[in-house]
Amino acid sequence: MRKKIVAGNWKMNLSLSDALELSSEVSHYLTKSKPACEVILAPSFTFLSALKSIKEKSCFLLSAQDCSAAASGAFTGEVSAMQIKSSGADYVIIGHSERRKYHHEGNELLLEKIHRALAENLNVIFCCGETIEDRNSGHHFETVQEQLTRVIFKIHESSISKLTIAYEPVWAIGTGVTASDNQAQEMHAFIRLLIQEKFPDHADTMSILYGGSCNEKNAAALFSCPDIDGGLIGGASLKADSFIEIIQAAG
Ligand code: PEP
Repeated sequence: MRKKIVAGNWKMNLSLSDALELSSEVSHYLTKSKPACEVILAPSFTFLSALKSIKEKSCFLLSAQDCSAAASGAFTGEVSAMQIKSSGADYVIIGHSERRKYHHEGNELLLEKIHRALAENLNVIFCCGETIEDRNSGHHFETVQEQLTRVIFKIHESSISKLTIAYEPVWAIGTGVTASDNQAQEMHAFIRLLIQEKFPDHADTMSILYGGSCNEKNAAALFSCPDIDGGLIGGASLKADSFIEIIQAAG
């Protein structure tokens, strides 16, 4: 049985008091309703330690949104995997399209970051997905295959159980345009097939999340697709009501 996961990527939003309030509301719901899915909150680095104390009384997990490829040292402004782990995080998101686009993060760097995270025993949510140009020209499968081949398939099989994949078509992120259930399921099945070929023992157990304008209205249909194991949620994770409805959709 695969784990269903709903992860909220808060990006560079919320003040500390907003973050505490939102996580307390989610925590209250989780302790009362005990949903079967795993719930992850990904605040800015600066809020991880503050949310750790709420996490300890609740049943959500914490994720950072990125980590440095370096272990430590003179890298002003960077945050290491060790610092993230010691601040109470369980996961780190690596390869989000906003990191790829605005910080020019390529496959080699992403692989280094994943190795760093794994060395600190963090779980990794690896994001992949095509641009609108890739999709319109019919290259979307090729793009995602290349992202997996150059990064995930270079990781030693012994660490694969620490990985979750998030398929996030770039054209759907923050745009209000969601991939149709068919488009998303088709890509998730393709990703699972590639995992089956490379790591046959992990294809059935690896959770593959959908991300890209997933909200309380479309989550249930997306999550009922056979290869969609939950979601990585941006905008709709910033309000307790909509995020809780998405958690309910995951069961
Ligand atoms: C994301 O940033 O990972 C994301 C899926 O954003 P949104 O839900 O806002 O499209």
